[in-house]
Amino acid sequence: MSLLTVDDLVVEHRSPGRPVVRAVAGASLDVRPGEVVGLVGESGCGKSTLARAVCGLNPITEGSIAFDGQPVTPLGLRRRKLTGIQMVFQDPYASLNPRRRVGDQIADGLRTAGDTTTTPADLLERVGLPRDFAGRHPHEFSGGQRQRIAIARALAARPRLLIGDEPISALDASAQSQVARLMRDLAVDSGAGLLFISHDLSVVRLIADRIAVMYLGKIVEVGGTAEVWAEPRHPYTKALLQAIPKPDGLGVLPAELPGDVPDPANPPEGCRFHPRCPLVMDVCRVKEPEFGPVACWLHEPK
Ligand code: SF4
Ligand code: MG
Repeated sequence: MSLLTVDDLVVEHRSPGRPVVRAVAGASLDVRPGEVVGLVGESGCGKSTLARAVCGLNPITEGSIAFDGQPVTPLGLRRRKLTGIQMVFQDPYASLNPRRRVGDQIADGLRTAGDTTTTPADLLERVGLPRDFAGRHPHEFSGGQRQRIAIARALAARPRLLIGDEPISALDASAQSQVARLMRDLAVDSGAGLLFISHDLSVVRLIADRIAVMYLGKIVEVGGTAEVWAEPRHPYTKALLQAIPKPDGLGVLPAELPGDVPDPANPPEGCRFHPRCPLVMDVCRVKEPEFGPVACWLHEPK
């Protein structure tokens, strides 16, 4: 049973005097309870737009999002609390209120959940911080500690789905895998799903049960982490994996793959990856491969 089902989602960005941009251009994805799904792809591919739509923060142009069998509609924050989805953002400096004690900010989440037995100090302990940090202000902490506090605040609301939108990219290398593993452990322990968005495939590999690869607004490949890692099938996934230095698996995606990144306002005809694909065929230039789990004409389902 799925906790989150994103079905053929389209999200368009419209601004006056500019062409319409289909930031999410027909993406399908699901997350089950207790499951960690890593959503990867280069920056600008639509990962954050998809996440914001799941939280009801971006209007849906076409397609649908269901959480727990209920449609998610863009009613904003109130809806997000009601549906039990919490998001942890890239920048813990911006997401915490600098003027309020961290304990008070965590207490807001506990109130949302109607939890009268857990204390902010309990949650700080769960994210690996000293209990007496509750009385301090955000500026007294490092980036990694602040992100732990943001996670404690998200957990306080007892989410059934936790979304991390590049939650580790602003942290230094030593904190990155610690925070990623912490999010995984906390989500799985509480039976919540985790949608973990990152451009760093090597960290996603450490924590995700499944990987979804996004390119120019589409999910181009979904599969079990071990399978995708051992045998990537979409040429874009292959290129991403080849970009990572192998021995210890640590590294990040290149800013660009060979060839130009197409303009999302004017995507290529047919397969969106075709101008950069080393295996391009005639059909790829004219017809979009609209199927999963690998959206590529080389892997058309029989
Ligand atoms: Fe390459 Fe064609 Fe597959 Fe697109 S559909 S990734 S162009 S082989
Ligand atoms: Mg983003």
